[in-house]
Amino acid sequence: MKKQYGVKGILLAPLIFAVALVALLFEGHISQLDRELDDEYERIGREFFRASKMLTILDYSFNNYIKVRQSLRLTHTRQIVNGVCQMRPKLNTTAADGDDVNSQPVNPKYIIVGDEALCDRSSALYHDVGFRIALAPVISFLHDLDDYLIGVHYIDPSGYVISSPETLTVKMTPEVLQLIKSPDWEVYQNLSEERPIKVRGPIVFREIQYSEPLLSLMLPVYANHQFEGMISLDILLKKLLGSNRRFAGKLNMIDTRVAQLPPDAYRAFHLSEPGILFHHSIYYRMSWKNELYQFVHMKKNMLFIVAAMYVLAVMLFLFMNTRSAKSYYEGLAVRDPLTGLRNRRGFEAFLESKQHQSYVAIAMFDIDDFKAINDSFGHDVGDDVIRYVGDQVRCHIRSTDTVARYGGEEFVLYLTAEHESHLKATLLRVKEELCNESDMVVEKGFTISGGVEIIASSELNDIDAILKSADKKLYAAKASGKNQLIF
Ligand code: GH3
Ligand code: MG
Ligand code: MG
Repeated sequence: MKKQYGVKGILLAPLIFAVALVALLFEGHISQLDRELDDEYERIGREFFRASKMLTILDYSFNNYIKVRQSLRLTHTRQIVNGVCQMRPKLNTTAADGDDVNSQPVNPKYIIVGDEALCDRSSALYHDVGFRIALAPVISFLHDLDDYLIGVHYIDPSGYVISSPETLTVKMTPEVLQLIKSPDWEVYQNLSEERPIKVRGPIVFREIQYSEPLLSLMLPVYANHQFEGMISLDILLKKLLGSNRRFAGKLNMIDTRVAQLPPDAYRAFHLSEPGILFHHSIYYRMSWKNELYQFVHMKKNMLFIVAAMYVLAVMLFLFMNTRSAKSYYEGLAVRDPLTGLRNRRGFEAFLESKQHQSYVAIAMFDIDDFKAINDSFGHDVGDDVIRYVGDQVRCHIRSTDTVARYGGEEFVLYLTAEHESHLKATLLRVKEELCNESDMVVEKGFTISGGVEIIASSELNDIDAILKSADKKLYAAKASGKNQLIF
């Protein structure tokens, strides 16, 4: 019987294959994640480069205004709120305001917040702001450029901040102004004219009323080698880092001087940008569970195909199993298990389906003195002899003829031909060759006797009667000395 697969095997083998396939797909998913992370890191690098350029441009234009020492008077409203002076550009300016002479119709969105003295037009602070105010419109336009850029400021240590948009600093308190004026403020440490851009954060800047972590890029402004103040870009990290919606996890940033990478940090990348004093790493927060969910979500079509393939493979194996079992049991009914030849039933079925030529020979062969072989050499050698006879007969007749085992060491041969003489000659030749070569399977060999009926195929009606008369002839052959065929 052909090899049968157990139910476990049928379920397991395709499952192993399917799991290997899914593992391969998942590996592809992770390498795609790696590629996309690389792209993200590159994009973030570009954004920082852009931000540093913006700071440099701000610095440049600001410097020029300071050097020219020309005081610009735009029209502003002044208001003191909770001990802090707020100055806002007026939307529609007219000379009747009587505030400033050089009023211009600008509509930028910014605010200047500072000490109460800022609201006093005779104060030094108010006078000082006039030299810086040129920066305000530029600041307000810059902050609109990128959505992650949520604020642009100029922080002056004399006690005010020019800021856009105004929402960021409108709730400024005298305490924060105090901090800005304090030379101890960490932002003012290690300043020098050649210093690159400093990075502050990521922190939640309570002082500017923002609940999300921000990163500030801060550039000190120098005019005539004199420190003037800081220009600062506030970056909303959530916006800068969270642009790829295909990520299951999130990108995060840490200041490596104060924080360590968490254990789930994946593909940590130390930021470095010429001109920016980074001490920061970005990394991907990896949760294998979420990654798996994302994988299933993104590759659901492929996974469905794999599952369908699995079911199909299991069904195919089950089908093959049933088929091989069926053909095995069918074979058992018509085949002799020892020789693989047809048995009596198989022989009858063969005859029914056979297209005969003009003549048919039905021969009954029996090994002479087979008992003696069994007795001398054992039953196993006896079996070998039976198999040998079956194989040899099969080899010596045409594939359209057949031989069947009729039990014991008796074989029935069917041959068909157009001429009677041809059948006789073939049977004699088969018998001779079998006997001549029989010493190959058992010492001293053996002989064979046979009874043969040759009839016109039109008379092949009662096969039992034909077999009976062939058997009679076989008996006669045995009785008259064996080792012969009787026709
Ligand atoms: P004869 O020349 O008259 O045919 O003598 P014989 O010894 O061959 O006598 P017979 O044909 O009656 O003996 C058949 C013996 O074959 C009897 C049985 O023990 C043996 N036999 C039958 N089937 C098998 C088998 O499958 N394997 C083996 N080894 N022996 C078998
Ligand atoms: Mg015999
Ligand atoms: Mg016999």
